[in-house]
Amino acid sequence: MIHLIQGDITKFEGDAIVNAANSSLLGGGGVDGAIHRAAGPELLQECRTLGGCPTGEAKLTGAYKLPCKYVIHTVGPIYRDGTRGEPEALKNCYANSLKLALKHEVKSIAFPNISTGVYGYPKEEAAQIAVQTVKDFLSEHPGLEVSFYCFDDENYRLYQQLL
Ligand code: ADP
Repeated sequence: MIHLIQGDITKFEGDAIVNAANSSLLGGGGVDGAIHRAAGPELLQECRTLGGCPTGEAKLTGAYKLPCKYVIHTVGPIYRDGTRGEPEALKNCYANSLKLALKHEVKSIAFPNISTGVYGYPKEEAAQIAVQTVKDFLSEHPGLEVSFYCFDDENYRLYQQLL
């Protein structure tokens, strides 16, 4: 099942939230900053042990002071012109986060709009990739509940249309 929510992903009370991290996994702005602030300094301590994360891949940590159980950190592509493997990398972020969730018996997971902030991915294309990748995964694993957390109005409208 897919849910659409407008708001702050740090409030999600299910099993796992996905962080749109940078490849150092050492924190940043946007949703990454919000997640680290809400989780507390222990999240950064655990992230320091992970040795970063390549674009399109995902790593799991505890969630500390957050109301969920896990944070899945994935690194979205920095958008340049769309011909540098950005669509494939963005798709991999969603697919690899979902695979990792399944491995940890996650039943409910929330995604932000990966790469559509500072990383500059065009929102409509990013939303299409996100929704298609999640739908494909759910057709194989229908028990999982996926929530898309849209922060800005434009993303929220785009997801409303697609869902
Ligand atoms: P990226 O570097 O992957 O572009 P950003 O954090 O800059 O990551 O932006 C990704 C998306 O997260 C943007 O659409 C932004 O509006 C959204 N966002 C920012 N803060 C939050 C939050 N607290 N909860 C959910 N989404 C958020």
